[in-house]
Order: sequence, then structure tokens, then C-alpha cells
Amino acid sequence: MYGQGGFAFCKKALPLDFNLFLPASNIDTVTDPSIFENKAAVYYTLGCKLNFAETSAIGKVLAEYGIRKARTGEKADICVVNTCSVTELADKKCRQAIRRIGKQHPDAFMVVTGCYAQLKPEELSHIEGVDLVLGTEQKQDILQYIDNFAKRETGGAVIASAAKDIRTFSPSCSANDRTRHFLKVQDGCDYYCSYCTIPFARGRSRNGTIVSLTEQAREAARKGGKEIVLTGVNIGDFGKSTGESFIDLLRSLDETEGISRFRISSIEPNLITDEIIDFVAHSQRFAPHFHIPLQSGSDTVLSLMRRRYDTALFCRKIEKIKSVMPHAFIGVDVIVGTRGETDELFEETYRFIESLPVSRLHVFSYSERPGTQALEIAHTVDTKTKHARSQELLDISERKLQTFYESRIGQEAVVLFEHTHKDNLMYGFTENYIRTEAPYNASWVNKPRQVRLGGWNKDKTALVLTL
Ligand code: SF4
Repeated sequence: MYGQGGFAFCKKALPLDFNLFLPASNIDTVTDPSIFENKAAVYYTLGCKLNFAETSAIGKVLAEYGIRKARTGEKADICVVNTCSVTELADKKCRQAIRRIGKQHPDAFMVVTGCYAQLKPEELSHIEGVDLVLGTEQKQDILQYIDNFAKRETGGAVIASAAKDIRTFSPSCSANDRTRHFLKVQDGCDYYCSYCTIPFARGRSRNGTIVSLTEQAREAARKGGKEIVLTGVNIGDFGKSTGESFIDLLRSLDETEGISRFRISSIEPNLITDEIIDFVAHSQRFAPHFHIPLQSGSDTVLSLMRRRYDTALFCRKIEKIKSVMPHAFIGVDVIVGTRGETDELFEETYRFIESLPVSRLHVFSYSERPGTQALEIAHTVDTKTKHARSQELLDISERKLQTFYESRIGQEAVVLFEHTHKDNLMYGFTENYIRTEAPYNASWVNKPRQVRLGGWNKDKTALVLTL
């Protein structure tokens, strides 16, 4: 992912003394819950899984006060748009979504929150129809600011704190279907890579406690969840704010009855220790599936990016994983076209990645974000070259994915089938993230199923079963 959580942010957009608040009368704690009765909400999320988990948490807060989800076609009383600011394109999509939703629900109270809202709150507050812009620190307190759903005539109110004052860890766990839940274990980042402004949008690294997160996992299990994906911005940094450690979190979660598997979403290469790798290799519940941001296979570019590892360390981690879990799926993030990436340095990246026994690449094109240190690097890469480099890496990715899938044909695996189905076919994933296809069978949904993997399906997007 571009940045662990999929963000790049603008430093200059938010002056350090930035702190705008509504008049005190508007931010009193909720005194008359009856204003929420019979109200309907729509939610729209852009960006990463963390954002989706947080929208789900906002939805739960509103639901506790009786604000239900609007039915299809129904006009909502409140719209919540949770934004992303990873690239210029993401910003544009957010603005388009806000305008579109505003037109669909012209009388609804429109709240905009998320990373873009934290970085450029005033810009969003001037979009027609926006009534309230909430920063990162305030999004969980949304009820306090709804102000009787009164639409504003003169631009949205802004309630946001400076990044240095973002301290709260708001717990979130979302379910994209009944099978898989996304549990937020950590937020924020202290790393300050040169191209990324996450620390300015999400604040410093902080996390939930092991006890509370384990309880959230149990709750997901009670609701029928079978798989939990741990999410965060820099999850290997877990424990800083509570004096705990990531490995102890894994040990505690591993005891959760009812959950069949956990996945560690994305973890920095310098933070994935041998202890963590060995733990996953021997765990009953943690899946042999890793997602590790490489970003560049050139040590010169890694240094310009201010990443905290070099290619030798990255290579050692991959070798370690493969030595104890030869069947592990390893996804790798790469950014092409960063400032300073000359043709020769991209060539280094290409050769390095080709030599790695990884399973798939997630390729991102560098997008300039105002205020980042990377802008001080003189060498730039034009759009056409970025596109060509991206395509070259996607071709490697395709070959590696095919090789990985084909290496598993004939092997036994456990699949968790999802409830969505199409053309009488259902899909699920093995523990090592191989997509599998089978004729639809309702009794297989959300139940771990031992199978033997056959060959490719018709459109080569999944393996079929032989058992
Ligand atoms: S600062 Fe670096 S480690 Fe932190 S989120 Fe951004 S890219 Fe990831």
C-alpha cells in the first residue's frame, strides 16, 4: 500500500495552531436523544480498510441513538463521507462523491470526515451542501456536533485539532460480509517517510490495549465472524502507547475461540521480527499470509524515501518467511516514479523484485503531495514513464501470482467460502490467500472447509476444487 494505511498527506495544509471550533452551544454533549429518532443515514467511505472500519464504528455510534441506515432509494437525514487523501486523484474522487451524495440527499445534514478532512478542512467546508467537517480526533464524537440536523447556509463548520493534538485511539471493527472482519489495532505513524504525510492526517502512533482488542475479537466471533484482518497504519509499531508488544497481541488473539484465522494486514519490513515469523509459522490461527511494503528495490531510492531498511534486510525477511513457511503468500507494495528514481535506479528495483520469491505486487504510481519533503528532490519522473514502469512491475506480478497458484495445485488447503455468489458459483480464500471457486452450496458459507486444489477456473482468476 502507498504508505502503510494507503495515504500520503500534506504538511503545509494544516498550520500548527489550527483549531477551529463551533460556538460552545453547538458542541454540548447530547442532551435530547429524541432528535435522533426515526432518522436515516447514508455512509460513504473512500480509501483503505482502516477507513472502512472507522466508518463502521461511526455507524455503530449513530445506531445506538436510533439512527438507522437509509433504505435503497430513501432520502437520508444525515450523510457521512469518510475521505481519503492518498493522491490527487483520491482528493478529486472525494470531492466528486460529496457533490454526488449532496445532490442525491439535498436536505440531509452532510458530515465530511477522514484524512482529507483533517488535512484540508476548509477546502471541503466550502463544497456546496457540506454542513460539518470533522477532523481525525473528533470523528467518533460526531453525535455532539450534529446540531439538530440544521443545514448551514454559509459553508460547513469545521471542527478539527492540529495533528500534534490527535491522541485518541478510537476502536473500530467492521465486517465486509459475515465472514471477514477488519479489526483496527493501531493508528497513526511516527516514521515520517519523505513522500508520506500520514503523521499529519492521523497523528502519532497509538493503539488499543491487548485486553480490549481481544474482547473485540471475541465479539466478532460471537457475531459469527470467522476471519479477522488486523488493520492499522503501522501495525508493527503496536504497543507504543500502552507499553505492550505486537507479539503479545498476536499471542492473546491466537486464543480466540470461534475465530478460524487471523491475517496480519501490512507490516513494515524492519518491524516483522523473526519471533513474529516463527510465531505465525506455529500458530493455529494466524494465516501464512504477509503483506510487506518494499516501496523500492533500490537502496538509493529507499534512502531518499527515508525508509528504515535496505534491500538486504528486506531480502532476509522474505528468506526467513519462506524457510519456515514455504507455502506463505507474500504481497509486496511498490511505488514507481518517485522523485529521484532514474532509469538506472528503476532497473535496480526491477531486478531486485524479480529475484524475490514473493507472490504478488501492489504497484502504485507516485503522486506529489504538497508539503512533503520528497518535493525537495530535483529529479522528477513524467507520467508516461511512471505508467510504463508500473506496467513492467504488473507484468512481473502476474507471472509471480501464476507461479504461486500453480505451485499449490494438488495440495490440500482450508477454504472459507463467502456468502456472495454469482452464476451459481461461490468464492473463498485459502489460509495462504489463494482464491478458490466452487459451485454454489449454501451450507459451505462461512465454514472452514478442507479441500484439495485443482487447476485454474475458466477465466484464470481462481483455482477450482478436486474434492
Ligand atoms: S510515514 Fe512511512 S511508515 Fe508511516 S505510514 Fe507513511 S509510508 Fe508508512
